[in-house]
Amino acid sequence: MDYARRRQAIVNREGWEEYRETVRRQGSRPPSRQRPGRGGNRFLLILLLLLTAAVCLALLRKTGGPEPEEIQGNLPEYVTQDLLTENQWSRPGAALEQINGIVLHYVGNPGTSAQANRNYFNSLADGSQGIYASSHFIVGLAGEVIQCVPLTEIAYASNSRNDDTISVEVCHPNAEGEYSPETYRRVVELTAWLCREFHLDPQKDLIRHYDISGKLCPLYYVEHPEAWDRLRDDVEAELRAIAEED
Ligand SMILES: [Zn+2]
Repeated sequence: MDYARRRQAIVNREGWEEYRETVRRQGSRPPSRQRPGRGGNRFLLILLLLLTAAVCLALLRKTGGPEPEEIQGNLPEYVTQDLLTENQWSRPGAALEQINGIVLHYVGNPGTSAQANRNYFNSLADGSQGIYASSHFIVGLAGEVIQCVPLTEIAYASNSRNDDTISVEVCHPNAEGEYSPETYRRVVELTAWLCREFHLDPQKDLIRHYDISGKLCPLYYVEHPEAWDRLRDDVEAELRAIAEED
């Protein structure tokens, strides 16, 4: 072989090897990729699901549960509003975010009127007594009712349950703390109305201050559990009666 032919042979061979290598590379399938557009569709689907969930939630919020502002605007005619001035000791103005119960109390000061107790709460405003106390409602000796704090705000009456209950202070003629017949009837009427408005069950959501902190309040209904059971039964019966009227 002369020089030129040998060189050609080498070139050919190298060329052949190169060609085979190229074929081998191209012949192997390219790594599989997702078809374009599929990822985008999945994103849209998730977005649609999220939007649907948001709309459902908004609708549920709008239709579900009682509205304290509305109920506050439709108080029974026997309730007189004499709201406390806003202050950190008895009417902090903090929102009552949820209402899960009603707490009954007794004022513990025999013979005092609803007005006198309301004025006492308001007198705490300057802080000189260093006492935090108030109540949404006070039921008086003749069955009169004063509202001190709106249903949209918390009152200071029931310790750890201030932020999810409505409080009702009740006047009483003597130290034993039993409510007078007029007062008792009004307590039943007011708490049954509250149970209806806020969808509460008198047998479990109407509680005594005692049930929260162990304080002997309302004294008579702590010392006489059968009287407490009767009061709850009376509220339940009243609730049934006003539900039938509707
Ligand atoms: Zn109490």
